Amino acid sequence: MAAKTQKSRRNIELLTSSQQQLLRVIGQSGPSSRTVLAASMGLSKAAMSGIARDLISLGVLRETETVYGQGRPSILLDLHPEGAFFVGISLIEEPAPLVLSDFNGNVVARRTMPLSRNPETIAEMIAEALPKLLCERKDAGRKLAGLGIALSGFVDEKQASCVQSTLLGWQDVPLASIVKHKTGIDTFIENDAKAVAVGEKLFGSAREMQNFSIVSFDNGIGCAHFVGGKLYRGNHGGAGEIAHCTIEPNGSPCRCGKRGCLDTVASLKAIKEMARAEGLACRSLDELETEASRGNVMAIGILHRAGSALGLAIAHLIQFNDPGLILITHVEGRFDGLFGTVMRQAAEANVLPRCAGRTPIRTQRVDGDVWARGAASIAAHNFLIGPNPC
Ligand SMILES: [Zn+2]
Repeated sequence: MAAKTQKSRRNIELLTSSQQQLLRVIGQSGPSSRTVLAASMGLSKAAMSGIARDLISLGVLRETETVYGQGRPSILLDLHPEGAFFVGISLIEEPAPLVLSDFNGNVVARRTMPLSRNPETIAEMIAEALPKLLCERKDAGRKLAGLGIALSGFVDEKQASCVQSTLLGWQDVPLASIVKHKTGIDTFIENDAKAVAVGEKLFGSAREMQNFSIVSFDNGIGCAHFVGGKLYRGNHGGAGEIAHCTIEPNGSPCRCGKRGCLDTVASLKAIKEMARAEGLACRSLDELETEASRGNVMAIGILHRAGSALGLAIAHLIQFNDPGLILITHVEGRFDGLFGTVMRQAAEANVLPRCAGRTPIRTQRVDGDVWARGAASIAAHNFLIGPNPC
C-alpha cells in the first residue's frame, strides 16, 4: 500500500521550490494578480507568469475574476479546488471519521474506521481505509499532499508526537512517523481545538483575523488562539486550555484530578449530568432551555451556573489576549437561549469596563465533520504555509 501511494503521488511532490513558494503566497494572501504576486516573491512579472503558467497547466492554479482598477485590468490567480487533496482523521470519536478535503477545505468524501488506542493499530486502520477514501474522487491519490490527525491532548511543536492524551492514555507517542511508515504519506498531528482554529484561519470565517480565539463547545471544552496570525502553542503545547481552569474553587471533582474546572460546570457533558442529578428528564441542551423557558427553577439554575462559568472564562481570555474575535463552535446545543445570554452577560461583566463590548463573541454551529476537517487543514497548512505554524 505504502509503495503504491508514494508512486501515485509524484505529481504533487515534484513541484519545484518556486512553484511551492507561489502556492504559499496565494495560500496566505488569497486570490492575487500576477503583478502583486511577482512583487511579493521578489520576481520579475515574466518569471512569475512562467511559474503560474506551469501550475495552471498542472491543474494546481486557476485564473478567477478580472479586477478593474487603474491601468490595465488584471486577472486574479487562485488555488484550483482540485489542485491538491488532504486527508483528515479525528481520533476523538468512535467510529473515527476520515475525510478527503480539497484545496479550498471542502470535504469531498468521507468514511469511518474503528477507533483504537493502539498507535500501530490506528496506522493499520488508516492504511486500510485510505484507498477506499481516495477512490471516491478522481485523481485524489495522485494529488494527495498530506494527512492530518486531530486528537484530544497535547502535541509537540513539530506536530509529530502526542506529548500526553488522557483520552487515549498516551504519553510521548510519535504517531505521525508511525502513520507515515504505514501509509507513505506526510502526516501531521494536532490537538483537536487547535486543528479547528487552523481550519478557520486557512479556509473559514477567521481568514482575515490576526488575533482570535476558538472555543469549541462539546462534551468537553477546547480552546486555541491565533496571535499575530500564528497559532500560539506555548512552551508545552498546552497554551490557552481553558477547560481545566479552576472556575469554582473546591467545586466538583474533575477527570484531570483537580476540582471545579470549567469542564465540570459548563461543558455539554457537565450540563447534562447536572440535569440528570436534579431529576430532570432533559437529554439535550435544547430540552433544558425549553424547560427553563417554562419556568423550571432547576433548569434555570443549571443554565445560569453553566453560562456564568463559561462567560467568566471567556472574560479572562479577553483580558489576557485582547483578541479581535472569540468564535464559539458547537456541534450540539444552542446559544440563543438563557445559557448563551448569561454567558454573554458574564463575559461583559467580568472584563475591565473599558474592554466591555469591544470583543465580538460569535457562535457557529458546525457539523460532525468539524474535527476531521480541522485535521485535514493541518496537512493543508503544512503544505501551503510551512511545517511549523507556531
Ligand atoms: Zn480539570
